[in-house]
Formats: sequence, C-alpha cells, structure tokens
Amino acid sequence: MGAGAGHATDLMAKMLASLFFAGATLALLTMVLPRSEAFDAMGMLAVVANAYVVAALLYWRADRLSPATLRPALAWGSSLITAVAYFSAESPSPLVFFYLWVFLYASYFFTRPETIAQIAYVGVAYAALLAVSPPPTGTAAWWVVGMGTLVVAAILIGAMRGRTDVLIEQLYDAARTDPLTGLLNRRGFRDLLDLELERARRAEGCVTVLVADIDHFKEVNDRCGHHVGDAALQRTARTLDEGKRQIDVVARVGGEEFTLILPDTEAPEGMAIAERLRCQFQREFSAETVPLTICFGIATFPVDGETAGALLRAGDAALYGAKAAGRNRSVVHSPALREMVAREGVGGDLEGERYVAVVRDLAEALDLRFSGSARHSETVGRYAEMMAEELGLPQERVARVRLAGILHDIGKVAVADAILHKPGRPTEEEWATIRRHPELGAQILEHPSLADVRGWVAAHHERPDGKGYPLGLSGTAIGLEARILAVADAYEAMTSDRSYRGSIGHEAARAELQRFAGSQFDPAVVEALQAVLRRESARASALASRPGAPGAEHARTPLTS
Ligand code: GH3
Ligand code: MG
Ligand code: MG
Repeated sequence: MGAGAGHATDLMAKMLASLFFAGATLALLTMVLPRSEAFDAMGMLAVVANAYVVAALLYWRADRLSPATLRPALAWGSSLITAVAYFSAESPSPLVFFYLWVFLYASYFFTRPETIAQIAYVGVAYAALLAVSPPPTGTAAWWVVGMGTLVVAAILIGAMRGRTDVLIEQLYDAARTDPLTGLLNRRGFRDLLDLELERARRAEGCVTVLVADIDHFKEVNDRCGHHVGDAALQRTARTLDEGKRQIDVVARVGGEEFTLILPDTEAPEGMAIAERLRCQFQREFSAETVPLTICFGIATFPVDGETAGALLRAGDAALYGAKAAGRNRSVVHSPALREMVAREGVGGDLEGERYVAVVRDLAEALDLRFSGSARHSETVGRYAEMMAEELGLPQERVARVRLAGILHDIGKVAVADAILHKPGRPTEEEWATIRRHPELGAQILEHPSLADVRGWVAAHHERPDGKGYPLGLSGTAIGLEARILAVADAYEAMTSDRSYRGSIGHEAARAELQRFAGSQFDPAVVEALQAVLRRESARASALASRPGAPGAEHARTPLTS
C-alpha cells in the first residue's frame, strides 16, 4: 500500500480536515432529516462540535503538525463515527459506511502496518457498537458484511496507489533523462547542481563545473548525416562518463553541449580533469572522417559564482573564451575573462592574475602526483631564475622565466600516471604521448597574460643540435628562455629523488651537463649554471669553515648539498 513518506504533511492534514468537516456536517444532517427523531441531541451535538474543532485545527495548524499526529487523528475520527451511530439511536448499521473514509485515507497515505492498525481499530469500534446497540438482525452478519466491504475497498485503493507511485517514479526519471545518451538532461542536471551547491554551502566546501561543447559539430551532420552525428553524441557521452571520476556526474544539457559536476573540487583539479577528458575525446575521434575536438569552460563555486545560474554563466564565459582562442582547449574562468567576454573583444591587455594562480596550483598538484613532492616545479623555476640573472636578463624577464620554470611541465596533466611512472623504457606509442606535453602545456597556457611563457614552455624540449621535439628547432631558433628551461629541468631531474629512480648527485649532474653542452644544451646557459653553482659552493664552504658561525648549519644549500 502507499507509503506516506512522499506526501507533504500539509496536504495530508488538509485532506483529513475536510473528511472531519464532511463527517460532522453529515452527522448534523441526520439530526434534521424528517425520519430521524429518536436521537440523543446533546450527545450528537457534542460529537459534531468535536469534529468541527478537529477539522479546524487540522486545517489551520497543518504546517505545525508532525506526520505522527495524523494517525491518532484518524483513529479519533473513527471513534466519532462510532459515537454518531450510537447517539443516533436507530440501527447503527447504515452509518458504518462513514467508516469508509478511514480505509481510503489510511490505505492511500499510510504504510501497510499503519493501515492495518487503523482497520483493526475500526473493526473493534464497530464490534463494540454492535454489541452495545444491537440491530434487529444478527450483529455478526452486519459486522462481517460491513468490514468485508471496507477491506476490499482498502485493498483496491492501496493497489492503485502502488501503481501510481511506480508511474510517477518512471515519469520523474524520464523527465530528467536524455533519451539519446541516457545521461541526465538539463533539468536533472540543474536539480543535482542545486543539491551539490547546497551541500557545499553548508560544508563551506567547493564544487567545480565543467561546461563542454563539441567543436564544429555541425560539420559532422552536414558531411556524414544526422545518424552519424547522433552516434557521435552517444560516444561522447560514453567517453565523458568513462573518463570522469566516480563521484563526478555528467549530463547532456543541449544538442552537443555537456556539463559535469565535480563535487569537492577546486579549479586546478577541475582543470586537470577537463584536460584529461579533452585529450581522451580527441584520441577517441581522431580517426573519424571529421575528427572532433571539444572545449571545456571551468568555473568553481564559490569563487566564480555563488548560485547555479552565476556559476553556469561563468562556465559559459570560460567556454566562450576557449572557442575564441581557437577551440580544442580548456579555459578556467577568471574575472578578466568575464570582462573580456562582456566587451566582446578578445585579446586586450588584461592581467590574468587568477588564471596564473590557477595554473600555478595545477603545476603544484601535478608535482605531487608525479614525484610525490610539490617542489619539482618550484625548484626548476628557481634554477631558471638564477641562470637568467647570471645571463644578464632584465629583472622583469627574469621573473617571467621563473614563472615559466614553474609551469614548464603542465602539459603532463594529459599523460597517464602509468606512462610517467613506468620504470623501464616507454613503448613507441607511450613515447609519442610523452613528447606531446610541451605542446599541450602551451595550449593550456593560452591566455593573453601568458603569451611569452607559453612559447618558452612549448620549446623547452628543443635541442641546439636540432634533435629535440616537438619541432626539431636548432641553435638560436630556440628562444634563450626555452634553452634556460631545458638546462634547469635536466639539472633538477638528475639531482632529485623520485619514486622510480634516485639522484645521481650534484657533481655527476654538473659533469653530465658539461658533456652535452653544445649538443643537447646551450653551452652559454650551462656555463651560467656552473658559475652560479661554483659561487654557491664557495659561499657555502666559507660559511662552513667559520666554526660556530651563525647560519653555518644552513650553509649547505639545496644547490650544492
Ligand atoms: P562550435 O561549437 O565549435 O562553435 O561549432 P558547432 O558547429 O558545434 O556549433 P553550433 O552550436 O552552431 O552547432 C551545433 C550543432 O549541433 C547544430 C546541430 O546540427 C547539431 N546538433 C544539435 N543537437 C543534435 C542532435 O541531437 N543530433 C545531431 N545529430 N546533431 C545535433
Ligand atoms: Mg553548441
Ligand atoms: Mg559546438
């Protein structure tokens, strides 16, 4: 039988109020009908007044009632019916049909045990009435016929209620599901987002939303037909669904627009997930007649928006930024971006502080993932900064080189952990994936505020002898800053411990740099690092040779220890 849980107490109370009201009015009518003279007027009036009071209480106090009060109220209604039958002093049997509402109400709104309890109570009350005021014919027969009729009615109503519940549930699901992909649709997505935001608000946590749109999707329909387009949408749904984390939810919110909710996720991690999905998507569709790519806009609660609407607008603005910047990329929302979109002018000289903050956090998160320490990128940044200074670059360029050092490996976000952590040699295919990280990094850093840095990151694996990647540039065709990054990256890699290999030591690393100066590394840049290291080392021994000198224990700097 129907469960009461899904029904608002308010509705249930108002319905019960109208039943009390109807019962009281009918009882009043039996007093004024021509054939009813033999009744106890005082008793009847007391019962009728009681029923009206209960009806009024149920009606006006509905919002303050707990659902538990409705069960005794209904039982009290049964008692009043019994009393009416008793005070009417005629054959009580016809009045038993007033009991009907007890059965209908209980079997519609209450659980099965509650309904059975109500029916049992009515059965006992009716039996008592028949015993106290017996009808002219047999009391047992009256009881059996009356109760039997009511139980059958109750069972029918209960069964109908069960069926309606199933239908309502099916309709509810259908209204929230996209029939083509089986994902949540826009409405389902919005309900869930509201719920997630409420949870985050209460826990003072965060939620990141990814707004995705397939690039040039119209071309698939135009060139291959709508059925191929539909199949591509289904594959997109599968790719996103399989690529996301277990806790994330993906929805299809429009034609070729998808959205993901990432609970408890900050922007950098959201960016990492978006980039991973973007690369998986590109791989999935790379061999098609129309190779597809996808864009992601990333927005985080509460920084980019406090409400679902504001958050989605921020995500859309970021998505627009990704489209405007050439498609096939992920863009984090930033206030600068919002302004840019508002003015409809892409480019401009807006500072992207928040963007830089997010990609720096992403670099740190990646360090933790790949080396178990958040220091790799920072250390490369520091080496790069020292070399740039040594080479006499102006101060503001030195700072940019340091930032580039911190961000140089950000493209590795798209390379699977298994490949990066593999102890042996990577396969040809794995190697091809790894070699793409400078380009992917440059794509991630596509933002007006990082125009210089992205070029250096793209070229940090080029070599002066032309044997580097991705372009095989040689000599001074590789920017000085990129040549600095290459040396900083290599030196840090050789001198730090990773989970899969140990440091070779600072002396051996310096010898290695010297050996490859001119082929893999720019000799002038290597010399700059050597000079810095020599100076550091001299300073360290000078400090160490002064016994008891303050700071002697700090003399072994990370550069030379
Ligand atoms: P871009 O987003 O890169 O700007 O280009 P686009 O071509 O993807 O953009 P636009 O939003 O103009 O076009 C979306 C197209 O998606 C239009 C329509 O042909 C196609 N589309 C939308 N819904 C469906 C669908 O359910 N099935 C198929 N096959 N195509 C759909
Ligand atoms: Mg679209
Ligand atoms: Mg599109």
